Amino acid sequence: MKALVKKEAREGIWLEDVPEPELGINDVLIKVKRTAICGTDMHIYNWDAWAQKTIPVPMVVGHEFVGEIVDVGANVNDFHPGQIVSGEGHVVCGRCRNCMAGRRHLCNQTSGIGVDRPGSFAEYVALPMSNVWEHTPGIDLDVAALFDPFGNATHTALQFDLLGEDVLITGAGPIGAMAAAVCKHAGARHVVITDVIESRLDRARALGATRTVNVAQESIADVQRELGMYEGFDVGLEMSGNAQAFNDMIDSMCHGGKISILGIPGEDTAIDWNKVIFNMLTLKGIYGREMYETWYKMSVMIDSGLDISPVITHRLPYSDFQHGFDVMNSGEASKVILNWEE
Ligand code: NAD
Ligand code: ZN
Repeated sequence: MKALVKKEAREGIWLEDVPEPELGINDVLIKVKRTAICGTDMHIYNWDAWAQKTIPVPMVVGHEFVGEIVDVGANVNDFHPGQIVSGEGHVVCGRCRNCMAGRRHLCNQTSGIGVDRPGSFAEYVALPMSNVWEHTPGIDLDVAALFDPFGNATHTALQFDLLGEDVLITGAGPIGAMAAAVCKHAGARHVVITDVIESRLDRARALGATRTVNVAQESIADVQRELGMYEGFDVGLEMSGNAQAFNDMIDSMCHGGKISILGIPGEDTAIDWNKVIFNMLTLKGIYGREMYETWYKMSVMIDSGLDISPVITHRLPYSDFQHGFDVMNSGEASKVILNWEE
């Protein structure tokens, strides 16, 4: 089968012929229809320090996908060929204390699809049945391919009560923009999102942000005054990984404000702990998606009319993958879909 392989320990990714995955007795074999390119894939493509210490080469990359089940292992009763599914990208151990307690997103032995084990930038991918999520029949396949990053956005956004609350999102990348959509859908009042790239802010507005702030030109404090929010934001979602953005957020929260942090900061990120303490802020780190409460919420939001498709900027046949990786690297793209059926 065709697959995009990290074949060599240097920048790039290669379209190769590789053997089809073997189907274990607990596995589901999926024919891939659409995939999306993630920031993680770009780290692997660019072969940065994280990728060099994490990715064994060769490796079939990719974890954001939708496809159709074509075969199931002998132990699998709940899935059958023809179902349209995506895969949870974190494979958990099932035996540690957190897994046994049903808190699988907190497993301490998580392995990643397309990172530690063969991924979904391929014609076929095999996954344990416990990693498979069936979509509502008729779902837009491009949207279904986004459930992994949409899940990061949803998991982060739904940490704290949103109804009637004022939300600040720092970073209008694909995940920040989708989080804006979730917050608006969930009944937040002001959904203010920051970035330094105008096109990203435009996209966030299309998805549901009620006010965008280009922090290179405008201050969050001014926008807060304009909106009549004298005490600050109730909920913060850090989705940039940028130290300045995180500090801006801490400065903009109301007393008792709650922040969930998805963006991965650089090693030297420092914050003013006095503001956290005296303003009694809650900070919570977020990793991945909850299995499978986040997936349930996503399916229900899409079924009830939430449209995240404006986050998609490029739709390409998989053979055009190089163009997809190039536009991701240029910062011009938000979500790039590769179609494995053309
Ligand atoms: P992205 O890099 O596309 O988006 C980040 C955005 O932040 C960019 O648009 C950038 O212009 C903006 N930004 C930079 N400086 C800023 C500033 N000072 N103020 C406001 N915005 C600023 O990333 P993404 O794919 O949308 O992911 C968001 C973050 O979440 C990344 O840091 C990513 O590594 C992280 N992530 C974490 C997990 C997890 O499980 N914890 C999963 C996926 C992604
Ligand atoms: Zn575990």
